[in-house]
Amino acid sequence: AAPVSEEDPTARSLEYTRESGVDGQSCSNCALYQGGDAPEGDCPLFPGDQVVASGWCKSWAPKS
Ligand code: SF4
Repeated sequence: AAPVSEEDPTARSLEYTRESGVDGQSCSNCALYQGGDAPEGDCPLFPGDQVVASGWCKSWAPKS
């Protein structure tokens, strides 16, 4: 799987960034992140691509 580009239309609409600017929120601790402890992983909002653990988008959701 290829890394998600910040220029990707879905990434733009979700304001995805490879470096989260939000304290306490990143893909690594988002409920949707499928990568576990890995630095890159799947996210269902970006099928076929991989997001980075350090990233963020506006659909971030806390793990329950
Ligand atoms: Fe990262 Fe957003 Fe996917 Fe959560 S929903 S893993 S913050 S890209």
